[in-house]
Amino acid sequence: MDVFISIDMEGVAGVATREQCRRGADDYGIGRRLMTAEANAAVAGAVDAGADQVVVRDAHGDMANLLPDELDRRAELIIGSPSAHAMMEGIDTRPFAVALFVGYHAAAGVEAAVLAHTYSGTSFHDVRIDGRSVTEAELNAWLAGEYGIPVGLVTGDDRICAVAEARLPGVRTVKVKRGHGFTVAASRHPEDARAAIRAAAADAVRGAPELTPTVASGPVTIEVDLTDLRRADLCALPPHVERDGRTVRYTGERYLDAFHCLRTWLHLAAAAR
Ligand SMILES: [Zn+2]
Repeated sequence: MDVFISIDMEGVAGVATREQCRRGADDYGIGRRLMTAEANAAVAGAVDAGADQVVVRDAHGDMANLLPDELDRRAELIIGSPSAHAMMEGIDTRPFAVALFVGYHAAAGVEAAVLAHTYSGTSFHDVRIDGRSVTEAELNAWLAGEYGIPVGLVTGDDRICAVAEARLPGVRTVKVKRGHGFTVAASRHPEDARAAIRAAAADAVRGAPELTPTVASGPVTIEVDLTDLRRADLCALPPHVERDGRTVRYTGERYLDAFHCLRTWLHLAAAAR
């Protein structure tokens, strides 16, 4: 039984500011250390529950944040970007029993959600699938679903945990902090958060057979509200993209097509800065 872990940084216990999450900022080293320790907690939980192989995907920013020599040596680390599956790179490499999302955060525009955004903190105001605003957790759950893999755990602040419980049937959550503002949180002590994540990861792996993958069936329409018209000018260029002011829209035959369009918009929008 193999387990896939995708770990972001904004939803880690003890993290609440941009300076902790941005390469080159004074507090980035603190963020990296806290993130690595939470990854290790999830790996330990997966192994407690009998996982044979654990793959950890570094899923924040340039995806090179985890401290490789401090990561539990029982896990394989997938580091670096860009890649086809982004925060889920490696999900298609073997039949994982379950995917675990650690350090996740709420969607762009959610009040009192710590460092909330959806794939881009600067370019995307909102990302919608078939008309509904979605989080990275849901976007990545559909990606796992493409390969028949369910999501068993989401950890982060109270906001992302509430969304995960509502939209990912059977998922377990660990609230490591309460959002008080975009860059303000009441956090559990990181060691307590890690103990809870380890226990929940083990429960999620043991409970994997009861979970159902989140599958997007039929054509999928993805829409993004961009933060400005210059970004929209560029994101409207790929074939089959419709545009309405700052909004771009694409319908793919499969979810993966829609996801790859989102990734294309992400990089085009970044080029428009
Ligand atoms: Zn992140």
